[in-house]
Amino acid sequence: MTRGRFAPSPTGALHVGNARTALIAWLHARATAGAFVMRVEDLDFGRVRPGFMERQLDELRWLGLDWDEGPDVGGPHAPYIQSQRQERYEGALRRLAELGLLFECSCSRRDIAAAASAPHVGEEGPRYSGACRPRLVDPTVPSLTTHGRSLFALRMRADPGVVEFHDLLMGRCAFDPAAEGDFVVRRKDGVAGYQVAVVVDDGAMGITHVVRGADLLSSTARQILLYGALDLPVPDFLHVPLVLGEDGERLAKRHGAVSLGELRDAGVPPDAVIGWLASTCALAAPGEHISARELVPRFELARLPREPTIVTAADLERLRPG
Ligand code: GLU
Repeated sequence: MTRGRFAPSPTGALHVGNARTALIAWLHARATAGAFVMRVEDLDFGRVRPGFMERQLDELRWLGLDWDEGPDVGGPHAPYIQSQRQERYEGALRRLAELGLLFECSCSRRDIAAAASAPHVGEEGPRYSGACRPRLVDPTVPSLTTHGRSLFALRMRADPGVVEFHDLLMGRCAFDPAAEGDFVVRRKDGVAGYQVAVVVDDGAMGITHVVRGADLLSSTARQILLYGALDLPVPDFLHVPLVLGEDGERLAKRHGAVSLGELRDAGVPPDAVIGWLASTCALAAPGEHISARELVPRFELARLPREPTIVTAADLERLRPG
C-alpha cells in the first residue's frame, strides 16, 4: 500500500507553493487508496514559532486535506513531531558511528546551525572543507547519546561518487553528495540534523513515496546514502516544482498575500484555492472551483508541470470573492 506524507516545518506561514506540494502529496496517496501521514518537522528550534504547527494543520484541513496519522490524530508510528523522536535519531547515529561514517566537527557555527532545516535551494552554505575528518566518532563513548550541549557537531562522511535515482516526475537524477561536503547529522546542541531525521522517520513510518518540493532534490542523494547505511528501503521520490513569485524568487511576504491564512481571511473559499492550484497542474480548468476530494479521480502524474509555476498578484486577486 502507498504511504505518503507531508512534513511541514512550523517556522512560518504556509504559502500557496507549500499548499500545492501538500495537495499533490495527498492526491498521490489518495488516488492509490493509500495512507497519508502528517509529520511535523520542528527541530530547527531557532526558527520554530509557538502556535504555527496548529495553524498549519488547521489551514491544511481547511483546504480539505486529511491524514490517517499525525500529531493530532495519533497512529501506530507516534509521535509524529520530530522534537519528540530524538532517541530514534540517536539509535541511527550510533549505527552510523559503528560504520565509521561519523566524525566530530567543531567548525563554523553557521554551517552547523543551517543543518537544522531542510536546505532549500540557495540556502546551502559553502562546501565543508573536511577539516575535522580525522576525528572519527568512537561509538562506545557515551557522549554520543547525551542531549546536552557538546563542543562539537557530528558530520557524516560524503565520499565522492554520483548517486543516481529516478524521480517520478523529474526522471533520472544524479547528484554527488560530496559536492556539498560532509553533512551535519547532529548539531552541537545534541539535536539531529534534517537529513538524518527525515530518513529515520520516513523509514520508521514506512513511507513508500516521498513527495516534496523540488528544492530538496539534491538532498535526496544524501538521504539515499543514509538509507543505505541504515539498511532502510529507499522510498520512491516525487519532487514537485516550486511556485515562484513574479521575480522568479521563492515565495515570500513581499509577493503579497501568498499565505493560506491571508487567502482564508480574505474570504477566498478553499475550493477556489484548490481549483487554482489544480489548474496549475492541468487537473482543473482555469477559474474552476473544486474540492480536494473531487480531484482524486482526476489525478494523473503525467499532467503535473516539470517547471516552476510563476504566481502573480493578479492570480491571487482573482481568487477573492465578488
Ligand atoms: N520539513 C521540510 C520543509 O518544510 C520538508 C522536508 C521533506 O519533505 O523532506 O521544508
